[in-house]
Amino acid sequence: MCGIVGYTGVQGAAPILLEGLRKLEYRGYDSAGIAVMYDCRILVSKVTGRIVNLCEKTQNGAAVPGTTGIGHTRWATHGAPTEKNAHPHLSNDGRFAVVHNGIIENYRALREELIGKGYVFESETDTEVIVHLMEMYYHGDVKEALIRTSDRLHGSYALGVICSEEPGKIYAVREASPLILGVGIQGNYFASDVTALVSHTRNVIYLDDGEFAELSENSVTVYDCLGKPLSKKIARINWDVQAAEKGGYEHFMLKEIMEQPGAVKATITPRIRDGRVHFEELQISDEELRQIRRIVITACGSAYYAGCSGKYVLEKLVRIPVDVELASELRYKDPLIDEHTLLIVISQSGETADTIAALKECQQRGAKALAIVNVVGSTIAQLADYTVYTWAGPEIAVATTKGFTTQLSVLYLLAVLFADRLGTCEESIPELVSALQKLPMYIQQAIDMNHRIPQLAEKYHGSRSLFFIGRNTDYAIALEGALKMKEISYLHAEAYAAGELKHGTIALIEDHQPVIALCCNPSVMEKTINNIIEVKARGAEVLALTFRNNQKIISAADDFLFIPNANPVFAAVIEIIPLQLLAYYTAKENKCDIDKPRNLAKSVTVE
Ligand code: GLU
Repeated sequence: MCGIVGYTGVQGAAPILLEGLRKLEYRGYDSAGIAVMYDCRILVSKVTGRIVNLCEKTQNGAAVPGTTGIGHTRWATHGAPTEKNAHPHLSNDGRFAVVHNGIIENYRALREELIGKGYVFESETDTEVIVHLMEMYYHGDVKEALIRTSDRLHGSYALGVICSEEPGKIYAVREASPLILGVGIQGNYFASDVTALVSHTRNVIYLDDGEFAELSENSVTVYDCLGKPLSKKIARINWDVQAAEKGGYEHFMLKEIMEQPGAVKATITPRIRDGRVHFEELQISDEELRQIRRIVITACGSAYYAGCSGKYVLEKLVRIPVDVELASELRYKDPLIDEHTLLIVISQSGETADTIAALKECQQRGAKALAIVNVVGSTIAQLADYTVYTWAGPEIAVATTKGFTTQLSVLYLLAVLFADRLGTCEESIPELVSALQKLPMYIQQAIDMNHRIPQLAEKYHGSRSLFFIGRNTDYAIALEGALKMKEISYLHAEAYAAGELKHGTIALIEDHQPVIALCCNPSVMEKTINNIIEVKARGAEVLALTFRNNQKIISAADDFLFIPNANPVFAAVIEIIPLQLLAYYTAKENKCDIDKPRNLAKSVTVE
């Protein structure tokens, strides 16, 4: 879940590594370090905390000369975030330095074995076994040592390795953790994701699991796990550098909230042709569609809530039962999945470890998997039978916004496509398609019409806890709204199906308890109004989220968030916008580190 980066070329390595780490900092940020080769020695510099500390310690890299090196920003899994546990780790003979993203599951046994052989451990990490194994298996050939070391490791790892005996070379290994090579001129790179590469090169090679690469100033060679050279395709990245920068906004999260009209448009527009939904990349025949008895959506975190929200629309329009399962649960529950199940997996990064495991588990049982991902060439994109990209562009803030809305937009597109092909829905397809095309405009209006949100945040930011209530599609968005609030403002926030209040939660309502009531689904509006009246009668302060000019709600609640009067079938994707903004401004009031909330990291590539 950390970020790793490597460079070898003609320029000073340390400044390039530091810049790369800054771009990857969203992936992990409890400690960081670099190792650079200089005069046949490896110089290491490490700090706790953020990359800025490493920049200070190394005088922006000037204190660490040399043109070949590796770097790491950590999200600790084994051992506290201390300087000793920070990567890179060095071998006892000082020949090797290693950075690692992931978890070595059999590290205890390896550690005991290595201690028995006299190796001395400096850290509590699982990673350190790797560098001692390298030393043990090195007899003059780094590649050979890498192959033998990898052979001993169980778990997930992306590794960067340097050896003082090979001054201009860096090595990269991938097994179930993301790693990409950047092919430049007079210099080559590796990194955990493309954001660290785009300012240097747009030519990349996606490593597959079990492969490793040897990079020098002028060459990039990829090998399979036995050391046989492979011929790999060079892909071109079309993300621009600007898109990965803040572009004038105070935080990436705010920038990404504001980008949603454009991101949702980029997701929807190319999939609409002659008034119907059409996916180039989804070659499913009508016959195959008719074989589907059940849809299972699996994901983690916000992507799971996108699934919860999409379920209502899929079931309404396609009339096939949809179950939404947390990937971390599905993978271990001996799931009832067969060849008549369509599995939909959702992951922004395409690297979420639990989602990958659930996907493999279900494929083994005969299900066809359709992936909704943002990152091109990611592991999930490669494993799935069909892949639909969200085209949201790079998402840097740890708390997802445009990732979520574009995932939900794809679920809407799929619902309309399946309904059209199977002839299952009462609504007119052209009307649904036209409603989809209007979503970017309505999302923009939802951003524009809620200028009072900073004041509301000022009012509510000191609350001990917040309740989010809603029914049906409103409930699914309440779940995501509460998660957003928890993630970045650190307020206790819980979402409840409004009808469940009286089965327990209403006991927690007392004077001035804020309740955020979502009322954007006309089919259950009256029912939710009753719940508003119930909690108000017990002293709650109600902030209602509803359509503009909804007089009934306006007379029942205390404060308001609004969305425009859109087609209710797809209103949920608009409804989340004011809640994202409320979470953002509340976190700002609470002086939280909005883009990098404590204890979290962006793509969860460990279990
Ligand atoms: N498991 C390693 C550690 O705790 C690497 C964690 C990471 O991916 O940042 O140091």
